[in-house]
This record gives sequence, structure tokens and C-alpha cells, in this order.
Amino acid sequence: MPSLLPENSWRADPTLRAVLESWLRPQTLAWAEPALIEMGRAAVDELPAWGDACERQPAALRAFDGWGDRIDEVIYPPAWRELAAVAAQTGLVAVPFETQTLARAGAEARLVQAALCYLFAPSTATYLCPVAMTDGAARVLADVAGGAANEVLRHLISRDPAMAWTSGQWMTERQGGSDVGRNAVVAKREGDHWRLFGQKFFCSNIGCEVALALARPEHAPAGTRGLALFLVPRDRPDGRRNSYRIDRLKDKLGTRAMATGEVTLDGAYAELVGEAERGFAQMTAMLNITRLHNAVTAAATMRRACMLASAYAAQREAFDRKLNQHPLHQEVLETIAGQADGALYLTMRMAQLLGRIETKEATSGEAALFRLGIALTKLYTAKQAVAVVSEALECFGGQGYMEDTGLPRLLRDAQVLPIWEGTTNVLALDGLRVLRRADTLDCLAAELERLDAPERRPALDAAHRAVRADTDSAERAARQVAFALTEAWMSGLLQASGTSVRLPGIGLRPR
Ligand SMILES: Cc1cc2nc3c(=O)[nH]c(=O)nc-3n(C[C@H](O)[C@H](O)[C@H](O)COP(=O)(O)OP(=O)(O)OC[C@H]3O[C@@H](n4cnc5c(N)ncnc54)[C@H](O)[C@@H]3O)c2cc1C
Repeated sequence: MPSLLPENSWRADPTLRAVLESWLRPQTLAWAEPALIEMGRAAVDELPAWGDACERQPAALRAFDGWGDRIDEVIYPPAWRELAAVAAQTGLVAVPFETQTLARAGAEARLVQAALCYLFAPSTATYLCPVAMTDGAARVLADVAGGAANEVLRHLISRDPAMAWTSGQWMTERQGGSDVGRNAVVAKREGDHWRLFGQKFFCSNIGCEVALALARPEHAPAGTRGLALFLVPRDRPDGRRNSYRIDRLKDKLGTRAMATGEVTLDGAYAELVGEAERGFAQMTAMLNITRLHNAVTAAATMRRACMLASAYAAQREAFDRKLNQHPLHQEVLETIAGQADGALYLTMRMAQLLGRIETKEATSGEAALFRLGIALTKLYTAKQAVAVVSEALECFGGQGYMEDTGLPRLLRDAQVLPIWEGTTNVLALDGLRVLRRADTLDCLAAELERLDAPERRPALDAAHRAVRADTDSAERAARQVAFALTEAWMSGLLQASGTSVRLPGIGLRPR
């Protein structure tokens, strides 16, 4: 069977090109295009080969050295380092932080970064997860600025693979991930730094050089109010290994190449980031960015699944015709492609808003739109990625179920997207909370009006009813409201771009 991938995934993606052609200034596009072409080439050449190698030989934990001393070293295959090098050299984290890039692209830097990540993501064994957390950490450190934060930031945004570091994001503990206010890791002050004690239960990219961790300073109040944010380096300033143990690497359904550890902090050296009282707010800023990367990954995964299914349908025959000549199969292919298009447009709208917020160009309305939109976008695209990949897998019939086609891995890796960075329920409730804030609904109504979004009236009516309802009824309706608003928004963006609107039609939208 000839390869099902195109020669260049940038050139083969008219929707991505259309978004950038209409949303970037011509000079920004001209500057970005060589990198996009190169990433589109690599994404169907060496990147998938390295991604496959990482999947075949996942990272392993070397807890002890030959003399029985703990070393807690994560051993990665060489291909993982190759992926890390491409991510650094292309500036997947650096683009929206570099002075020179910002001078050239301004707020549009976030759109360029999102496009590069979108091309990189589907071939690279979930390496975009480390990129996402590193980007989030860089944002937080750039905002607090000063001292150690500046030094670490320099490494996080370095384009030199020998200098570049990645970050982890340590929130979740055994007693709760969504309910982060129950966090029990304790921080004890020791002179100018802190020591952390307790366990973090899900630590992805566990080979990272630094992590941002939530912990509760002694005597701080319960709940999220009492959580502070700490920078936890792998190595202490004196060069010794920091005092945390990687108890084990998790045995996961997917994301197998990307090591996720359980960590015991045993008086780990840590530095406070910003003001202690702002820990949870700072982590939320980090989450806004990791949620955007989650949506980028979801959109990219959908596009990859659609490309594979379309290419297969052009080759495979059934009942004397190619699959893509059967009207019902055409209907399925167009429906999943519509979902991929909608996901890309909405995700890029979030990247556009984030860029404007970071460069201080955004109005208060745009900031409110992003705050709501990022929860809706992450929630919806993640859920639909699973549905779309599942449908694309079925488009291959029995072969889709076979490991060597790569489709099972795409589905396994998609399945984490609705869970981490906030589950569907948690984000639907977050959306509801944001909708209750003054003006948010008005801002969204204005956006949907501007786009002349189909189905906007029923979606906005449902949102108005939910914010006025009693708590239990509002919570029960939260998913339905979130899905309806998101579909109206996506349909509006597609319609405004002249792309045909084919939403909904697939997936798990609650009725
Ligand atoms: C592969 C992988 C890697 C991860 N990496 C990291 C990492 O690097 N750093 C990190 O901090 N975390 C990480 N996580 C953890 C992840 O963020 C949490 O698993 C997630 O936030 C959910 O938390 P939980 O597992 O405690 O589930 P719970 O919070 O116990 O949720 C269980 C179910 O209850 C629902 N639920 C919870 N609260 C409500 C509510 N109020 N109303 C309605 N329904 C509700 C949820 O939607 C979910 O369906 C990772 C998870 C996975 C699977």
C-alpha cells in the first residue's frame, strides 16, 4: 500500500493555509511560511519515524545506580532527543516570547506558534505535551520576572537544543485532580527558599529540568486560596540532585512515549514564584496555555485522521467502486473533515485572542471572550477528537483496528485529551462560572452576531436560562450549554471564512 500521508502536511491543509492567509498580515505570513513549509515536510518524514521509535522504546526509569544510591533518572530513546531538538530549534515555545519575533509579528506570534505546533503534533508521540507545559511555565515566569525566574526562562525559551529545558506542571495529588483545593503537599520555609513535602500523583514529562508545583505553605488556609506556586528544579543550585523520588512511571492507555511519573517530594528544594497568595491564579494562567495546546493537538489529531481516511478511501475498492465514490462514505468523510475545520478555526481564534492579551492590545471584551472560549474550546475539541479518530479508524474497516496502521495509537493518544488539563465536566462548570460574570454573555453574543453565526439564538437562550437557574439545574445543563455555544461559535467562524458548515453530526453532544 502506498503511503497515505501527503508530501507536505502544510501544503496539504487548505484550511490551515486559509486561516493564516486571512488572519495574518501578509508580511507575517511571508516571514512564517518557510518554517511552516519545513515543518509540513518534516511532519511526514523524519518526525513520524522518530515518533514511532519513541513509541517502540518508551522512556524507562533508572531509580538506582549500581551502588544502590537513588538517581531517579529517566532514560529516553535517542529519537526523543531528536524531537526535543526540533521543538527547540523551531521555537515551538520561544516564538511568542522572543523580542525580535514580537517586534516582527506582534500579537500574531501566537497564531504562527499554534500553526507550527499543529503541524508538529500528530507525528511526534505526544512531545507537544512537554512543549505545552514549558510554554505555560515560561508565561508564568515571564510575568513574575526577576532573579531565578529570568535564568530559568532563558532556558525554557532557548532555541539551542543544548541549552533548552522543559518544564513539568505538578498539581494533581492522589486525593484529587479536579478538586485541586484538596492539595496536601506542604511547603516549609527555609531562609530564602522552601522545602516541599508530600506526593504528586501525575507528573508528565517527568524527565523535565524544572517543574512548577502547587503546594500549601505551613499555616496557609485550606482550599485553593492557600495554595502557592513553586519552582522545583531537578538539580539544586549546588548541583546535587533535588530531594524528590520518582516512585514509578505510570503504565498508560496512550501517551506511552511521554513518561508520566508519581513523585514523592522529600524536602525538595523549591523557590516561591510570585506572591504566595496568587499560586492558584498563576497556575490558572499556565492552564490557559496548556489548554490551548490541548486544542491544537485535538485539531491536529482530527486533521491527521481525516487525511488518512480520505487517502485510504481514494485507494480502497468495495462493490466495484472506490470508497470515496460511495455517497454515504463521502458523507462520513465530509462530516469528520467539518469537525476538523471547525476545531482549527476555533483554536486559532483562541490563539489570536491570547496573542492580543499578551501584547496588551486586547479589549476587556476580548479578554472575557478568551477566558470563556479557552474552556469551551478545550472541552469541545478534545471530546470531538476522540469521536473523529474513532470514526476515521472505522473508515479503514478491519485494518483500522490493526496496530501497524497507526490508527489505534492515534485513538489511544486522543483519549487523554478530554481528561488532562481539566475534564469535560470540570470545564463545562468553569464555563458556567465565567458566563455568570457580568458582560461575558454579552461579549459572546456580540462575537456570534459579528460572525452571523447560525444557531446562535437557541445557544444563547440556553446559556441565559442556565445562568439564571438554581445551582443543581445549571450544573446539569452545563455540558449542553457548553456544546451548543461552542458549535454556534465554530459554525460562525466557518461561515465567516466561506467554509461549508457541517456541524454537529458526530460525537457525544448531549441531547
Ligand atoms: C496521562 C495523564 C497525564 C497527566 N499528567 C498530569 C500532569 O503532568 N500534571 C498534573 O497535575 N496532572 C496530570 N494529570 C492528571 C489530570 O489532570 C487529572 O487526572 C484530571 O484533572 C482529573 O482529575 P482526577 O484524576 O483526580 O479525577 P477526578 O477529579 O476524581 O474526576 C473523576 C470524574 O469526576 C468528574 N467530576 C469531578 N468533579 C466534578 C464536579 N464538580 N461535577 C461533575 N463532575 C465532576 C470528572 O469530570 C471525572 O469524570 C494527568 C492525567 C493523565 C491521564
